[in-house]
Amino acid sequence: MRLSRYFLPVLKETPAEAQIVSHRLMLRAGMIKQSSAGIYSWLPMGFKVLKKIERIVHEEQIRAGHVPMLMPTIQPADLWKESGRYDAYGAELLRIRDRQDRDMLYGPTNEEMITDIFRSHVASYKDLPLTLYHIQWKFRDEMRPRFGVMRGREFLMKDGYNFDLTKEDALHAYNRHLVSYLRTYERMGLQAIPMRADSGPIGGDDTHEFLVLAETGESEVFYDAEITDLSFGDREVDYDSVDECRAVLEEFTSRYARTDETHDADEFAKIPEARQRVARGIEVGQIFYFGTKYSDAMGASVQDADGNKVPVHMGSHGIGVSRLVGAIIEASHDENGIIWPEGVTPFHCGIVNLKQGDAEADAACENLYAALEAEGLEPLYDDRNERAGGKFATMDLIGLPWRITVGPRGLKNGVVELTSRRTGESEEMSPEAAVARVAEIYAAHKPVNPGV
Ligand code: ATP
Ligand code: MG
Repeated sequence: MRLSRYFLPVLKETPAEAQIVSHRLMLRAGMIKQSSAGIYSWLPMGFKVLKKIERIVHEEQIRAGHVPMLMPTIQPADLWKESGRYDAYGAELLRIRDRQDRDMLYGPTNEEMITDIFRSHVASYKDLPLTLYHIQWKFRDEMRPRFGVMRGREFLMKDGYNFDLTKEDALHAYNRHLVSYLRTYERMGLQAIPMRADSGPIGGDDTHEFLVLAETGESEVFYDAEITDLSFGDREVDYDSVDECRAVLEEFTSRYARTDETHDADEFAKIPEARQRVARGIEVGQIFYFGTKYSDAMGASVQDADGNKVPVHMGSHGIGVSRLVGAIIEASHDENGIIWPEGVTPFHCGIVNLKQGDAEADAACENLYAALEAEGLEPLYDDRNERAGGKFATMDLIGLPWRITVGPRGLKNGVVELTSRRTGESEEMSPEAAVARVAEIYAAHKPVNPGV
């Protein structure tokens, strides 16, 4: 993309209404525009990051054996009356009446609808296990929408639902989700810690939330400092293996880590004092096992091997896709702007032309642009007729992890400059070497699946 043809409405001033750094930077970098409280348009660069995150989520879900689909945003109220949540959900549920006077609602989550789909089409244990998921916009009429996309009213969520014959099978699905979530967040450059949580209006006994530590997080969290040393890394886990998934769950949940809802001061006190941590976190996902709560209420059962009709065991699993855009920025920025992790960056590499209009510099930039594209990468070329200082400030603000700077003086010696946004370190090298280096860095971030 050439910046002169893109739509990147960066703001010079810091918007007064934004209280936290991710919200400020998303507005300043021209990623979003509020249309009403908690509802945003995703401008081109914000949209690009959202899609990158969505893609990683899809890839990791498919890798874990889960099946993508798409349910509508608008749901009939009847399903929610069946489960009892139409009244129980309260004022966060946006209720709508259509022209036939039918009660409808904008879905805040999809347990009822997926259970309805399941009961209409599945009747035998032979079709289990099954995990279906989708990535779809949700609406919750939050009391206090704030912090930009972190607590929106309209937000994008991946929500998945497992259907299993037995409790053991459903607990395996729970563990498998925990593993796939760890992997998903790490690919986005995030450490998200599973913490024992409260199930809220979804219901159920077993639940973990995934939290990214950040001062601006809305949840108070209590944990054993040892937990931050854990990392999933590039290990291979067989998602069908009950033992392997359980082992990962045990490794990542055996140390004390809880949100304030489930915090137990006596248990916490048993951790050596030097390792006790009280901090704040951003909830970026949650997994639930809730047994037969919805299948009992809505009659979702299958025939088992003996011909008996039994209710299916279920769980649900959510990732806050749009919230993640803000959470990643909270975790990765400096005083000059965003620092995108390679896995989610909107463009792989910036190209800054120090002297637009200089024939040699222009030609070198065009060559770099073509060479990066030939490597399957997306460069963002700042080809505007602007001073170098302004170009650098824009690049720092929008946070591309790598930048190649091209100027007549370097070109005389056959070199350009490759700069890391994270460390600020620059290295001179030939244009070919710069392209090769950037391609090598991104080799580890190539999409793994064809996607959806
Ligand atoms: P919270 O406690 O933050 O209100 P929740 O526990 O009600 O969230 P879930 O039903 O677990 O949310 O939804 C799954 C994920 O969707 C959450 O982990 C979070 O990342 C995201 N999410 C929930 N509410 C919002 C919101 N209002 N804006 C943006 N993302 C949200
Ligand atoms: Mg939650």
